[in-house]
Amino acid sequence: MNLDALLTLSQGVYITGARDGDNRLVGSCIDAVMVVEVAPAQIMVSLGKGSYTREVVSRTKSMSLSVLPADVSDDIIQCFGTQSSRATDKWQGQDYRLREGLPVLQNAVAGLILRVIHTIETASHEVFLCHVLSAEPGTMAEPLTYHHYQQKRKDKQMTDTKKWVCSVCGYVYDGEVPFEELPDDWVCPLCGEPKSVFVQE
Ligand code: FE
Repeated sequence: MNLDALLTLSQGVYITGARDGDNRLVGSCIDAVMVVEVAPAQIMVSLGKGSYTREVVSRTKSMSLSVLPADVSDDIIQCFGTQSSRATDKWQGQDYRLREGLPVLQNAVAGLILRVIHTIETASHEVFLCHVLSAEPGTMAEPLTYHHYQQKRKDKQMTDTKKWVCSVCGYVYDGEVPFEELPDDWVCPLCGEPKSVFVQE
């Protein structure tokens, strides 16, 4: 079995929001969301069991969903996707508004407020069937797809790991300034050849 096949299923990237028992806003970056039906509007949201946001949603049965735009900053995905709301206030410093007491990002493509009506437990996740209490278009920009997000990550890794090498003497550029931003009259510090003889390897 090749699980890459699952990555061909289209899905988006979202920020969930919820409010815990101490009245703290929590949230998480997720991709597993599916529209089940539109009349009445119901969607499914899957949250990992290790997630504090999952714990809060399980208890409060309420959550918000912000649909991320294709040009979302990496900072938002980093903030919500790589740390726990148990220890960090992820919403602090974010540009958001409260709807029904739940946070929705201002630059979201759309914002939804959800009420959990049924829960299914899997080995690693809790899957919430939700009634859509309210749905508001936001910027209506192009939404970020999970595929696009993965592609952006791969492209970034490629450019991060590629080195600029002098094709004449083999010198590998390792300066602080990105190679592309060096002035045109910059020359190889070893052999003195111009910037134009450098190639990416
Ligand atoms: Fe050189």
